[in-house]
Amino acid sequence: MDWELEAGLKAIQAEARQLAATVEPMAAEADECSQVHAGVLEALRASGLCRLMVPAAYGGRDEDLDPLAICVVREALMACSAHLDSLFALQGIGSYAITVAGSEAQKQAWLPGVGDASLLAALALTEPEAGSDLKRLSTRLEADGDGFRLSGGKSFISNAGAAAFYLVLAREGDDFSMVLVPAGLPGIRISPTPELIAPHVLGEVEFDGVRLPADARLGEPGKGLKLVLATLGVFRVSVAGAAVGLAQAALDEAVRHTRRREQFGRPLAKLGPVAQMLADCWTEVEMARLLAYRAASLARKDPRASLPHSSMAKLAATEMASRVVDRCVQMMGRFGLIRHSKIERLYRQARPMRIYEGASEVLRLGIAAELTRQLP
Ligand SMILES: Cc1cc2nc3c(=O)[nH]c(=O)nc-3n(C[C@H](O)[C@H](O)[C@H](O)COP(=O)(O)OP(=O)(O)OC[C@H]3O[C@@H](n4cnc5c(N)ncnc54)[C@H](O)[C@@H]3O)c2cc1C
Repeated sequence: MDWELEAGLKAIQAEARQLAATVEPMAAEADECSQVHAGVLEALRASGLCRLMVPAAYGGRDEDLDPLAICVVREALMACSAHLDSLFALQGIGSYAITVAGSEAQKQAWLPGVGDASLLAALALTEPEAGSDLKRLSTRLEADGDGFRLSGGKSFISNAGAAAFYLVLAREGDDFSMVLVPAGLPGIRISPTPELIAPHVLGEVEFDGVRLPADARLGEPGKGLKLVLATLGVFRVSVAGAAVGLAQAALDEAVRHTRRREQFGRPLAKLGPVAQMLADCWTEVEMARLLAYRAASLARKDPRASLPHSSMAKLAATEMASRVVDRCVQMMGRFGLIRHSKIERLYRQARPMRIYEGASEVLRLGIAAELTRQLP
């Protein structure tokens, strides 16, 4: 077993680090935005990295999406800017159901624009009354003449207002289907989501009897949840990559500070408890990185079968990132508390990661269920 990233992945990592370096001067400003930051989007487009999010037949880099490559890129981008990381990630999360289940016409119409980031994507699952328990959702898809009508409201949707299309999970009869909804259709209303502790491009999306053509449904009727699982199979582990990147960035800040600042006649880094915190942080970041890379390697072979490992990686890495960034603030004393400093930004950004794409407690339930199912 080789524990190094292969040469192709190292090259992608270098590209992602280059993009992060380009965005760094605007990162603090972008991470305060609830709208898309034009400069960051332009840099992302120019990097060509969104071509990792679509298959080669539609302008992508590889025949299929590579969960490990996406994980490695998110690690580099999140270390710089949550805004940048989110714009990149959403291009895949918000379009993967088209890749998996779209008609040839849908793929031709949307995927090339996703790959060059001229079209932004969004995935609309959550509703005011349906969060972790998606089966509570009430948005309805109903037959109407030779097409459908879509009615209901989605909440906390990333890229709302900026996206060119929404992949919407809706109730169709007793089951759930996924439909592709172009952003410009009559009856779609976007309103702002309350501002979060870590600002994010988010909005509420209302569908007021939106008329859709007969070919709007992705895949078979009633198979929408399968497409959600397929999306999680590729992308959940990438949240682990992003969490590792965030934690590493926080640790880098703490190392710089504790090497430089002296108290009691010595650099902070040499004071016993601080040295222990540094060592614990580094060890935990490395553990989470290994788990993330392993789960992403498994997802390369079979994303659906490796979902329990992706859940473990997401759980471990996001919980680790919160612990590590909290310790880093502690090591930096009052300087860790300064508003708009990088460490303060990372501290706020670590928090939502334990809630979105599977809250930690919900992930634990799934992991335990899989463990008890496996043992003979
Ligand atoms: C920054 C951000 C971006 C987002 N982007 C999107 C997006 O693009 N598209 C989209 O559809 N949604 C998006 N969401 C919503 C996100 O998916 C939900 O927040 C998430 O699914 C959790 O749902 P909830 O917040 O309603 O929490 P709830 O489901 O109300 O759960 C609250 C808490 O209860 C506990 N809990 C819940 N269920 C269980 C259980 N079965 N067992 C044990 N404990 C449990 C957990 O601790 C959980 O944190 C986003 C959220 C954030 C914060």
